[in-house]
Amino acid sequence: MTGRLEVRGLNVVFDGFHALTDLDFTVQPGELRFLIGPNGAGKTTLIDVITGRVRATSGSVRFNGTELRGRREHAIVRLGVGRTFQTSVVFEELSVLENLDLAASFRRSPLALLRARRGVSAEVAGVLETTGLTELADRPAGVLSHGQRQWLEIGMLLVQRPSLLLLDEPVAGMSRAERERTGRLLQTVAKEHTVVVIEHDMEFLRRYASQVTVLHEGRLLREGSVADVQADPRVREVYLGR
Ligand code: ADP
Repeated sequence: MTGRLEVRGLNVVFDGFHALTDLDFTVQPGELRFLIGPNGAGKTTLIDVITGRVRATSGSVRFNGTELRGRREHAIVRLGVGRTFQTSVVFEELSVLENLDLAASFRRSPLALLRARRGVSAEVAGVLETTGLTELADRPAGVLSHGQRQWLEIGMLLVQRPSLLLLDEPVAGMSRAERERTGRLLQTVAKEHTVVVIEHDMEFLRRYASQVTVLHEGRLLREGSVADVQADPRVREVYLGR
């Protein structure tokens, strides 16, 4: 379950303000792509356009050849596009397992739901394993550490079987050990999905990113390996501040 994301000539104008300008952005199936850029660069707007939350002024956003532009958010979810938000969507009073079941139910038929009530579905069990949350399945989500909660949110996306995952700063606020674990989780997820991650942490990028896209003032500033991007004087100036 993966796919190719192809953004062409994308423009987003809010009341005369150009948030994205003539943006071309392609992510190949199964890629783990990092999106960086200073505050206001347009990263969130790009994700918002892909997911149908924000309307593009012009251009196209194709996923596996299907035009997403003009479709509504829930229709884009059904086409296999899932995202996390900076604010948590976890229900604290429900257990880890119940949160995953609930997320899985968003795409299940009533019959499948009835069957699922008889036990943990193989799929949810698989996601518990992938996210390292098996031991915590029966704990209320409210007691999870910050890192565990982020993994649960990624799990809640995975059980909805997306082909493209868009993650907004998944390691923000995490300890070093949690970052390492998240990096490995993202690499595992990217084996079967196309993944785009907004992330600022350069050390994390050096360890886990192969391709990086740098946005600046709504335009594509640079694309390439972490080493190429870091060596680019324009990137150093606008993003790294040196
Ligand atoms: P980033 O995620 O890279 O920090 P954003 O995509 O959030 O950047 O924002 C890009 C620019 O667009 C910012 O200057 C922001 O103020 C502006 N912007 C974002 N959403 C809106 C909106 N709904 N209305 C007006 N301006 C917006």
